[in-house]
Amino acid sequence: NLDFHPSGRHFLQIPGPSPVPDRILRAISLPTIDHRGPEFGVLGLELLAKLKQVFKTEGPVMVYPASGTGAWEAAFANALSPGDRVLMFETGHFATLWHKMALRLQLEPEFIGLPGYEGWRQGVRADMIEARLREDAGHRIKAVCVVHNETSTGVTSDIAAVRRAIDAAGHPALLLVDTISGLASADYRHDEWGVDVTISGSQKGLMLPPGISFNALSDKAISASRESTMPRSFWAWDEILEANRNGYWPYTPSTNLLYGLNEALDMLLDEGLEHVFARHQRWAAGVRTAVEAWGLEIQCQDPALYSPVLTGVVMPDGIDADAVRKIIYERFDLSLGMGLGKAKGKMFRIGHLGDCNDLTLVATLGGCEAGMKLCGVPLAGSGVAAALEYFAQHPLEAR
Ligand code: PLP
Repeated sequence: NLDFHPSGRHFLQIPGPSPVPDRILRAISLPTIDHRGPEFGVLGLELLAKLKQVFKTEGPVMVYPASGTGAWEAAFANALSPGDRVLMFETGHFATLWHKMALRLQLEPEFIGLPGYEGWRQGVRADMIEARLREDAGHRIKAVCVVHNETSTGVTSDIAAVRRAIDAAGHPALLLVDTISGLASADYRHDEWGVDVTISGSQKGLMLPPGISFNALSDKAISASRESTMPRSFWAWDEILEANRNGYWPYTPSTNLLYGLNEALDMLLDEGLEHVFARHQRWAAGVRTAVEAWGLEIQCQDPALYSPVLTGVVMPDGIDADAVRKIIYERFDLSLGMGLGKAKGKMFRIGHLGDCNDLTLVATLGGCEAGMKLCGVPLAGSGVAAALEYFAQHPLEAR
């Protein structure tokens, strides 16, 4: 739009890709090295070891030169076979896309959930999963698939409760969890929660550009991959596991993104994961305080499940959220997440992850507030003032 010439930095406040810290961008800009040479093997071993700490696992973590969708496919292609029944829970747009993929890969997904748009305002119901697994006496269901942080809604789910539900039903199904947007911003524990395959991506909490994604594996998942008859080659865990032993990959990895990953892992582990999680929880609480001051609704209806990564802001009836986003983008050079699928036009999403701080978030809220006023959204009060007050009253504990 030629009427508004942006100057200064763009505000990338979508819930991923998140703003990349300069330190990571500088690491990515270093010269590309020989991916079969000795230096690379050292880097590979170092980052594979550090990755385990972020996934909280003792097991291996696969790294793919692919977006998160590739890592979804890798999980299905290795752990399951065509015709396998999988139980999936509809939490929002990303759970829906994963279900679509299951159909395309000739799995037999059962998609359960709470009805309608309102179902997209809640998390996974472990009791519904338990009830369905109890009915499955013949153990036809081979996997339960859930999204940890549903990026389309800003609702998290209790993965430990899903594990307990599977165990309570005495069912052997594998547990597959998408934490593409949760990892490294929201608390996540692959081993403790008994997850078999954790799927994640680079462009959210890991603060990298898009382009690499992950599968963390349990022993049970590795055993299942030996029985699986799904055709696979690029995604196959066995060859990657073999090459990873010496810090290499069976094909050309994304060398420069791996420099960035190594830097990101240092930043996260130096800060301490608990501090990283507290920082995101505090930002999320500040943003929610602003939404409350505006007198608007938050997409997530269960306070226990508010996402620390993003907040969905519901527009009053009669206001098109996409029109509001468009004005905010044009006037203030600020990108917000759109409402996806069933939430299209009803809400926008504010990301509070990646290279942010209190002031970038206050500025983001300023762009939202000014844009909503321009669009005639009735606001009860100033969200910016409320967030500033919240941040002042709740300083982040020193680490
Ligand atoms: N799952 C979730 C929860 C996501 O947020 C996304 C992307 O935003 C995906 C899956 C798909 O990942 P990608 O777009 O990197 O392929």
